[in-house]
Amino acid sequence: TGNFQFSALLHKKTPEGIFPLRSIGLQNITYSYPGAAKNALDNISLSIPVGSRVAFVGPTGSGKTTAANVLLSLLTPQRGELLLDGIPVLDDEITSWHLCCAQVPQSIHLLSDSIISNVAFGVRSSDVDEDRVWDALEAAQLDVLVSDLPYGLHTPIGDNGISLSGGQRQRLALARAFYRSAKFLILDEATSALDNKTESEVIQSLEIIGRRCTTLVIAHRLSTIQKCDRIYEFDAGEIVASGNFDELKDMSPSFRQMINLQSFINH
Ligand code: ADP
Ligand code: MG
Repeated sequence: TGNFQFSALLHKKTPEGIFPLRSIGLQNITYSYPGAAKNALDNISLSIPVGSRVAFVGPTGSGKTTAANVLLSLLTPQRGELLLDGIPVLDDEITSWHLCCAQVPQSIHLLSDSIISNVAFGVRSSDVDEDRVWDALEAAQLDVLVSDLPYGLHTPIGDNGISLSGGQRQRLALARAFYRSAKFLILDEATSALDNKTESEVIQSLEIIGRRCTTLVIAHRLSTIQKCDRIYEFDAGEIVASGNFDELKDMSPSFRQMINLQSFINH
């Protein structure tokens, strides 16, 4: 088809995945969960420039996680398209897109296995490249910690091995994403604005990721939102405002209300 020829020209396709070069977007997406009375997403469109850091903000239930899952192609919308470089992703390209994506959730599921199997997650042990594991650990700022462990890469995590702090677990999840050379990362911040310990972990992760990956963070805290290039404000399944921090402050009363409330809580 015409689409296929176009996508071959615009996205970079390799055995390791399909890499957008300019943008990751949603076009007129409507999504409804099976049996739900109303749409979780109602005709939303957005565009994430490759290399940028974007935040989704908005009240609980406004559709942020659903939109993230449509971007990851984990949910198939009833209407609309996931676009890479402006071109709809075809059904047979979804597996390649998955290879390019990684999620760093609030509570990371680690295997009670060695450091190396947690970094090279799902890779057959005979296929694991130890040099790349060290590169990924270094990028995630865990190399010093791991090299000081009695069994290095082969030190078990969990009950019979080392126990990791929340921040170290999150960095291990980053190392896993870096090992896979994921190009699009989604971080889901803890939902309470009062949970300041987790806050510093997300901020630290953002610093570590830097400009290595295109990053989407589902954000609740001022300090995270301020670190993003573009913000999409969700309400009841729609995007009600978008822009950088100052633009949103100017144009959106609900955004102003949210940041004023947090300044009040934090001081
Ligand atoms: P947010 O991440 O902004 O809190 P969600 O995307 O999780 O919002 O939810 C959007 C809407 O979809 C809400 O009304 C929520 O109740 C509904 N919803 C979310 N997940 C499911 C699900 N698995 N099944 C049915 N409804 C869901
Ligand atoms: Mg959510």
